[in-house]
Amino acid sequence: MTASPRRWNNPLDWRPIDRHMLLGTLLLLVPLVFGGWLAGTLWLAPSYLNASVAKGLMVLFGIHGVVLLVLLLQALRRRRTETEWPLLENVVIISFVVSILAGSYAAGTQYTQGLLVLFLGFNIASALTSIRKIYVAYVCVCAVLLVIAIVDFTGATPHAPLFSRPPLEADGSLTTAWLIFQVMVAAVLLALTRITIAVINRWVERENLYREMSSIDGLTRLTNRRSFIERGQSEIRRAQRAALHNVACVLADLDHFKSINDTWGHHVGDEVLVAASNILMENTREYDEVGRYGGEEFAILMPGLSLAEASAAAERIRDKIAGTPVLVDGQAIHFTASFGVACFPALGVDSLNELLKAADRALYQAKDQGRNRVVTVLDGQPTD
Ligand code: GH3
Ligand code: MG
Ligand code: MG
Repeated sequence: MTASPRRWNNPLDWRPIDRHMLLGTLLLLVPLVFGGWLAGTLWLAPSYLNASVAKGLMVLFGIHGVVLLVLLLQALRRRRTETEWPLLENVVIISFVVSILAGSYAAGTQYTQGLLVLFLGFNIASALTSIRKIYVAYVCVCAVLLVIAIVDFTGATPHAPLFSRPPLEADGSLTTAWLIFQVMVAAVLLALTRITIAVINRWVERENLYREMSSIDGLTRLTNRRSFIERGQSEIRRAQRAALHNVACVLADLDHFKSINDTWGHHVGDEVLVAASNILMENTREYDEVGRYGGEEFAILMPGLSLAEASAAAERIRDKIAGTPVLVDGQAIHFTASFGVACFPALGVDSLNELLKAADRALYQAKDQGRNRVVTVLDGQPTD
């Protein structure tokens, strides 16, 4: 996969300081939205609010907003020279928790919308900040909510102290101010969800890319050596469980490949490697594993095939490779390969390592006998 500029649109790809600035900017919504709502309600419908609690919250939100703004402005300068700023990260996490807990406790929504905002905030922050810090914040929130639940249960403090009377009309419907508040919370939740989805999508995309990069050979798109060995080990384990099951292995090495590179150049050598890989893929079964085992060496695992069947398959592939030249600038470059075939279980072949060693011995023999041929190993000994 090639790097695309679009990737940089996703916060997951940003430097830590930029991610924390994004979170800090989003967090500014809390004092702006909730502080603004409190101010509006105090002005238009003050009878619903307990003025001292409302003013206390507004002071808290005011301090929160100013601290965030000052830090964000400083971060704008710092980001030119630094990639992270732990102070900003810590303030974002702690102030988010304190603001949401205090605001939702005051409004009596700490187990409903307050919890949702906290949950979604943790969700985004866990991808964009230190997961350890988020875990600590999460444990603290659980502890605080437990204490609030106990205090609520004893009835020592009133529920929803922000309200001097329930935010309901005489007929039980929600007041306009409270309804506006609900809509604002819903809008914040939707925005947080949108960002969470984008970040998690990118996370999954990256995960797939890393998995592919760690298991597929970039040039030939075949399984790389590490994955081939993993698959081989699992096939051998399976064969050991079902005692009658064979696992055949073919090692193939291109003949005089160095001279192709030397004569035609490395890029033509690469084309030959890709052409050989395609022939291997096209001439094996779906459940065989074809891997690039080394530079110009390939390995094929053929679960369920006997030695004779695997030898016949190798012979077919050998013939195909010898008869399929690569065309470069209108010129046909012929190439061949030598093959070593072994099968598990056999005398002296009790593990994947021994299977590969046996196939390698046979391959060595094929080279020794003049190349462009298949040699099979019978009971640990190569035979023609
Ligand atoms: P033999 O028949 O004995 O196998 O001879 P050979 O020339 O094929 O073997 P040798 O081990 O001498 O050379 C292998 C060459 O393969 C050397 C190395 O530069 C080349 N090679 C390894 N990986 C790549 C690759 O990814 N691309 C290209 N173009 N060449 C590669
Ligand atoms: Mg070779
Ligand atoms: Mg080689």
